[in-house]
Amino acid sequence: MDGLVRAIADNAQLRCFAVKTTEMTEAARKAHNTSPVVTAALGRLMSGAAMMASMMEDTPEGLLTLQIDGEGDVGGLVVTADAHGHVKGYARNPQAICPASSAGKLDVGRIVGPGYLTVIRDTGNAEPYNSRIELVSGEIGDDLAQYFAVSEQVPSGVGLGVLMNRDNTVKVAGGFMIQLMPFASDECVSRLEEALSHITSVTALLDTGIDPEEMLRTILHDVDVEITGRSPVSFRCNCSRNRVEKALISLGRSQLEELTSDTEPIEMKCQFCNTAYSFTPREIRELLTTL
Ligand SMILES: [Zn+2]
Repeated sequence: MDGLVRAIADNAQLRCFAVKTTEMTEAARKAHNTSPVVTAALGRLMSGAAMMASMMEDTPEGLLTLQIDGEGDVGGLVVTADAHGHVKGYARNPQAICPASSAGKLDVGRIVGPGYLTVIRDTGNAEPYNSRIELVSGEIGDDLAQYFAVSEQVPSGVGLGVLMNRDNTVKVAGGFMIQLMPFASDECVSRLEEALSHITSVTALLDTGIDPEEMLRTILHDVDVEITGRSPVSFRCNCSRNRVEKALISLGRSQLEELTSDTEPIEMKCQFCNTAYSFTPREIRELLTTL
């Protein structure tokens, strides 16, 4: 089952997160009918966003957005996550494909990059915090680690992975983030580097069937790990007919009047979850009366 754990380790010198997003990534794949390589890119970005949003636990109204603008064929990705584990996202070209990497793997870096990653943290009360970095590899895990190093000065180990079944459904997805606290000792840094050097594949780790807590304990095998929180995560969009009506109304009278001249219903699709909302010309006229 999908879920997220937060932990501290090595006498609180490390802050850790691990997440399993298999069902979330499969739900996103189904909603957007993504190709395997795009499913992998979206699943990795959603896993990262779920963990980064859980860092905003002090701001229940907080919203984290990760936006990738790249030159790769996927044309960019946008993912939003809240502090309650609700994650949604989309790829601009969901059916984009590219050849496998030389190692025979889904080539996420190639479908995504080169380009930029923008991190937007909206706490719900102050101006949103906004930071943009150049992508390192487009593999997403590396790019998030670079973001933490450059924008937050927090050295971080980030591993994200999505493994597909032969029928192009999601077999396993998830990842981890391990961050060095400012007071971490040199010994702690060496222990973390040593631990991370043994992780060759996040997907291989996930494919053993372990849960997020076991994943952290496996990675940090001889370091003490104390779980500080657990929470569910899921692919969930907060769109509704009511919200779409508001968006239509915001188009203004003249645009709405134009829409009523059609005889066919118009269809509005939510970008994040692909749910279609249909409005007949008559329903549009009713919206006009509210202006
Ligand atoms: Zn939606």
